[in-house]
Amino acid sequence: MLDPEDWDAFRAQGHRMLDDMVDSLQHIRQRPVWQPADESVRQRFQGHLPANGVKLQDLHDEFMQYILPYAVGNTHPGFMGWVHGGGTPVGMLAEMLAAGLNANVGGRNQIPLEVERQVIAWMRELFGFPAQASGVLTSGTSAATLIALITARNAALDEATVAEGGVMNSAIQLAAYASEEVHGCVGRALSMIGLGEAVLRPVSCNHRHQIDLMALQRQIDADRASGVTPWLIVGSAGTVNTGAIDDLDALAAMARTCGAWFHVDGAFGALAMLAPEIAPRLRGIQSADSLAMDFHKWGQVPYDAGMVLVRDGDKHRQSFATADAYLQREEEGLAANSPWPCDYGIDLSRGFRALKVWFTFKSFGSEKIGAMISHCCQLAQALAVRVDREVELEVMAEVSLNIVCFRYCGDRSLPDVQYDALNRVIVRHIQLSGMAAPSLTYIGDRAVIRAALVNHRTDMQDIDRLIAATLAAAHSCHQLPTGVKSEPNVETERE
Ligand SMILES: *Cc1c(COP(=O)(O)O)cnc(C)c1O
Repeated sequence: MLDPEDWDAFRAQGHRMLDDMVDSLQHIRQRPVWQPADESVRQRFQGHLPANGVKLQDLHDEFMQYILPYAVGNTHPGFMGWVHGGGTPVGMLAEMLAAGLNANVGGRNQIPLEVERQVIAWMRELFGFPAQASGVLTSGTSAATLIALITARNAALDEATVAEGGVMNSAIQLAAYASEEVHGCVGRALSMIGLGEAVLRPVSCNHRHQIDLMALQRQIDADRASGVTPWLIVGSAGTVNTGAIDDLDALAAMARTCGAWFHVDGAFGALAMLAPEIAPRLRGIQSADSLAMDFHKWGQVPYDAGMVLVRDGDKHRQSFATADAYLQREEEGLAANSPWPCDYGIDLSRGFRALKVWFTFKSFGSEKIGAMISHCCQLAQALAVRVDREVELEVMAEVSLNIVCFRYCGDRSLPDVQYDALNRVIVRHIQLSGMAAPSLTYIGDRAVIRAALVNHRTDMQDIDRLIAATLAAAHSCHQLPTGVKSEPNVETERE
């Protein structure tokens, strides 16, 4: 009933849609990175549910005119605000094929499941996980973290406790450890699984923004002395603020010593394993009990696609497979091919996310993706050099990966809080200029401009443009309204 009446006309319209999207990607530099939408545009999306359909062509026109120009801009090479991937035309086509196939990859006896297993096996190999490690594709690292921490929680408790409502009714007190720079998705996961964010001990960082191992040890000792069980240590393989990589090897050893679960947040940084000069800095990732990561950031796979890997596949499955469903699987027919992805995660019905990941890795090969990641890091170093060269700008944190935090400091005659306010205004100005899109974050108490180099399209000309846009914005808004002394230290937005 919903198929086209005229397949030829549909095909022609489909070609036009493809052409428009390919044109838009090919000529992306002709657009502003981002632009705010008028209220009139916003209002177009506040109508009633349409009773009658419109022509596909009209819908496409509406998309081109009112949606495409007003997206966040992460496909653009000038987008550096948050750790967002740029996507690729190849990934776009794979997404279309997946939608056409419309496979429900929750389970059953079908090859799309093998594609997902292939992707998981590649990652198992890349990160040096054992053969019995399991994995499942997720919407992103937030969901992957939730799955990992549920498994970790259940692993710490006996079966009866889990069956009776988990740790909420348990006498055992658990503690989790991560650096102050850990992503908010860890605290959220702890809260969602009923442990509460309070179990998370934020550990201070060293001058390179890595978790301070001595401070961590002191916190663990203090908890043990008061009868609290060290349950979870989270290492960051690339923090959102500065790109810092924790000493994963040391964290793995500490977790082993105190019997804690070792989880790695490798949302964007884990794939730096593909860059030969960065891979050694991820040593220890192979010892993780679980790893959460994204394909949609540095992997450039279109949104959304993340993954969790769990070392002990049995513990992972026991946390998510419902025993009755699991036991009803067959040897043959559509109900064969167990275990299924739904035995390893939250979703029963799931889309064919693995196809765009598979297309991306097959199409480019791991070496080219690794080279692209290296290039992003070289651009970050080049940006730091450019900032150093400008007397009015200052690098605010060590550039260890692909993120540069810097600040306009003019002639340094104003108090720090006024430069905080000024940098905040500068970031807004640059974003509104459409020339580049950095974001604002805080290093200690200082407001800084952050540029995350994640997009494979970004090049040296975009670095130059960011510097030019920053100086232009600073000079145009140097006259702050009097009375602007400080800006509230607002929580920065999540990635
Ligand atoms: C982006 C990010 C997350 C959250 O991942 P989503 O895919 O957005 O859910 C977690 N940790 C780090 C370090 C990130 O960069």
